[in-house]
Amino acid sequence: MTDNGDRDVPGKGLLDGLAVTFKTMTKRSTTQQYPDVQPDLPPRSRGVIALSEENCTVCMLCARECPDWCIYIDSHKEEVVVPGAARSRQRNVLDKFDIDFALCMYCGICIEVCPFDALHWTPEFEYAETDVLSLLHDKNRLGEWMRTVPPPPAHDVLGEPSKEEATAARKAAGPGAATAAKTSRPSSVRTTSPPTAGPAPDRAPGSGANPEREQ
Ligand code: SF4
Ligand code: SF4
Repeated sequence: MTDNGDRDVPGKGLLDGLAVTFKTMTKRSTTQQYPDVQPDLPPRSRGVIALSEENCTVCMLCARECPDWCIYIDSHKEEVVVPGAARSRQRNVLDKFDIDFALCMYCGICIEVCPFDALHWTPEFEYAETDVLSLLHDKNRLGEWMRTVPPPPAHDVLGEPSKEEATAARKAAGPGAATAAKTSRPSSVRTTSPPTAGPAPDRAPGSGANPEREQ
């Protein structure tokens, strides 16, 4: 029978609708009684973005790559006198770091491009406001979200060590062992180069100041 024929049968549409209703009525409800019952979210859910201020070098990569232009950064330069150095060095000091979550589309590009692990996802999502202007989070508020960042995934024992780990291991082994350490890599270790940008998975969020902050 054609579609037109189906429509011609009196009451068929009503019966089809009732069939869907009864089918749905007999299914177990999946409604969650939020906020009385908190949802069980995966740890890597994209709730809000946290800022580890001490890791930020004010490189501006995140603000430049943000498709919504909703990251606002201001900074100034400071002279740092290094004992024994011929001339002083300059250091960027972060004055303002705001994210406007009224514009953010949660694409995660800013977190991906940050070379210094200064930005992190947290599963925290309860920051709704009655005033849209309050969705602009400054660096203090973004820093407060750091306490809700989940710990990084476990280290891959077969993964290639990070540049910092390899350097520390060579220093600990002494100058004579440096060459041997380079050549004695187990065959199971990957030989491809690590990505040049993006957060290192084996580094704890907010773990210490970044040496590259000083320029
Ligand atoms: S998640 Fe995307 S839209 Fe939001 S601040 Fe980062 S880059 Fe911009
Ligand atoms: S990309 Fe990272 S280090 Fe650079 S300004 Fe943004 S948060 Fe700071």
